[in-house]
Amino acid sequence: MSNIFLPLSKEQSVEVSIIHGGRTTVPTKYVVQTPIPGHDLLDIPCYSFLIENKSQNKRILYDLGLMKAWKEKQPPAILNQIEAANAVMDIKSDVTDQLVDAGIQLGSINAVIWSHHHVDHTGDPSLFPPSTSLIVGPGFKTNNTTFPGYPKNPDSLVADDAFHGREIIELDFSTAASIGGYPAIDYFGDGSFYILQSKGHTHDHISALARTSNSKFIFLGGDVAHHPGEYRPTELLSLPNDIEVPLPTNDNTPFLSVCPASVLETIHPGKKEGKDYRTTPFYQSNSLMNVSLPDAEASIEKMQAFDASTDVFTIIAHDTSLLDVLPFFPKTITDWDKAGYKSLGAWRFLKDFEKAIAEIKTEDTQ
Ligand SMILES: [Zn+2]
Ligand SMILES: [Zn+2]
Repeated sequence: MSNIFLPLSKEQSVEVSIIHGGRTTVPTKYVVQTPIPGHDLLDIPCYSFLIENKSQNKRILYDLGLMKAWKEKQPPAILNQIEAANAVMDIKSDVTDQLVDAGIQLGSINAVIWSHHHVDHTGDPSLFPPSTSLIVGPGFKTNNTTFPGYPKNPDSLVADDAFHGREIIELDFSTAASIGGYPAIDYFGDGSFYILQSKGHTHDHISALARTSNSKFIFLGGDVAHHPGEYRPTELLSLPNDIEVPLPTNDNTPFLSVCPASVLETIHPGKKEGKDYRTTPFYQSNSLMNVSLPDAEASIEKMQAFDASTDVFTIIAHDTSLLDVLPFFPKTITDWDKAGYKSLGAWRFLKDFEKAIAEIKTEDTQ
């Protein structure tokens, strides 16, 4: 992993808003190799992002979160997965409802980008007019599990009405330049928004890099990782000595103390292998969650270099720890660097380990 070279500015940038696209749950053991005791369930929001290129008068969305009509429209294979995982599916409103409520006409959305075909990202494109095109990653249209959709194609994991009447654009990265090791397409042609091929989680996975000012970016990771502990800390973004996140105190008064980083050494799954807890991610992704674990690990390693840059704010699709840090749509997060969201949010995921930390503290006092 090395320092990242970010693309030079062509004086254009985009506005970025984060939209809460519903909430679901997944057992942590489905996602990472050695869950920290007490961190048994990922209770995860599903983020969608509105990207506005004002100079070109264009609006696109990166992901749509969950769909309200999932019981009626999702293929039986998906319904079975939801039932088998005993997953919560909590969707108050489709992304389209939220856009309309904020006065944004759906006809003004030029395209929806699917980071990949999973139900917690695809939302309900059928609610958009046919003028909204759908952008998918390489291999989407040639893979029988993704295209055409269900019920036209009984093997598909995607509802077919997403495609009706609209242009489906499958990206081709074969001649693409590279940003931070990912093949990259300059989507608007003005350096304001890049779509990146980030293989591993699925055959069709893509991430994005949104320029929010001349030198600042938001990296939209999608499902490159499902928990920040899969990509933090690293040698380039090491754990601070004192972590200013709410953690339990000895007397069980919740959320008051500042945690000395050394407490985290004991609970780090890499401790047995002699890994440095200050520079080694807490979690490793597992093969259950990825069609290719080596590709997924390579994608995570590339993302770590972005994440370590003070010029880049990384947001994966399901980062619960940012829920109470970021202002949500219709507000924007374009000024993330001035607002300090990155430093406010970077270590808040450690709150997920509070049960394991409380155990240590209880042992210390006995
Ligand atoms: Zn996924
Ligand atoms: Zn996901």
